[in-house]
Amino acid sequence: MSELDLLMIPGPIELEPAVSRALSQKTISHLDPAFIETFGAVLAQLRQIFGAPLGVPFVAAGGGTLAMEVACANVAQPGDSVLVINTGYFCDRIAKVLERLGVSVEHLRAAVGEAPEPAQLRQALESGAYKAVTITHVDTSTGVRAPVREYAAIAHEAGALVIVDGVCSVGGEEFHQASWGVDVAFTASQKALGAPPGLAVACFGPKAIAARRALKRAPASLYLDLEEWLPIFEAYEARKSSYFATPAVNLITALAASTALLLLEGMSARAARHRWIAHAFRAGWQALGLHTLPIEPTHMAHTLSAIYYPKGIDASLVAAVREEGVVVAAGLHPDLKATYFRVGHMGRIRPSDVLATLGAIERAMVRLGASVELGAATSSAQRVLAGRMPHAD
Ligand code: PMP
Repeated sequence: MSELDLLMIPGPIELEPAVSRALSQKTISHLDPAFIETFGAVLAQLRQIFGAPLGVPFVAAGGGTLAMEVACANVAQPGDSVLVINTGYFCDRIAKVLERLGVSVEHLRAAVGEAPEPAQLRQALESGAYKAVTITHVDTSTGVRAPVREYAAIAHEAGALVIVDGVCSVGGEEFHQASWGVDVAFTASQKALGAPPGLAVACFGPKAIAARRALKRAPASLYLDLEEWLPIFEAYEARKSSYFATPAVNLITALAASTALLLLEGMSARAARHRWIAHAFRAGWQALGLHTLPIEPTHMAHTLSAIYYPKGIDASLVAAVREEGVVVAAGLHPDLKATYFRVGHMGRIRPSDVLATLGAIERAMVRLGASVELGAATSSAQRVLAGRMPHAD
């Protein structure tokens, strides 16, 4: 890969130069006053990014899967039942995590590209006593965006806690943890938070913390136990030194550079920019006659597109696009991964990145023999990008 290639996969993503500079700073002690200040500030900023004024942010070396384990291990234990709203591959993963914890799991599934109707959730909750419901806000395997707010309200009516996988949403999609009634949400540094891979990030609301305290036994994994971490996060926020497990100093310093930029842009402006960019891509797919996995526009993610290959073209498109200088991702959903590809569009993405990506895809399609009018996708996208129109869905 050339250093000039454009990274357009759904995480890791292109970094802001200020984030890369922060990453390359000298490694200092995790108890150095400068790092205590940085980490304390990041934790407070994450509370704003998650939209959880009373939440406790969690940051530890790891990734999205570790964040998933942390969220699950602190609210559910053997003997509990959890309902997984299943919109793709990462929902199967959270089910696996829960099953490893000895939790019994039921799935509420939708066809690939769809999300269950809220009424189906209501019905599923009537027929079982669930400790929690899990929602994958954006499933990165399908590009389906779930209606978190509606699902969470229904889950709460049924007395269930709400766990949200926000790995492909937090920092890109509109997300309001507290006002939507989400008890614990999690993400990873390499997605819309705009930092390099390596950090598990979560935010526990008051009911999730109470759920941890009400567990009959502490989580079997020491590293996953929120009770071990809570005094540490409290100390850093109070700008005091404290130790449980060495924080990833350089990654947290990079995350701090990114979270500062997120809040400078503003969370609702950032979500609006992601919607706008996503609509420009959608105009491009339409102009090329390509179909997305999500069927309903209201279920289409704004952080990535999952697009079926056109007739006569296979996964060699991904390599051909790469030869044109843009890195996109192959399919991931086990049932149909050979039939589609994915383009990430989160973080610092700008209009020129949309055009570069669509242009590379057009050229690659022509090279592979598709009948494509060069410029069709880019000019359709241009009309959206020039308009700066507000996009609601
Ligand atoms: N959940 C979702 C929605 C994801 O997209 C991913 C990563 N693509 C994960 C969980 C797992 O994250 P990680 O690969 O960092 O462990």
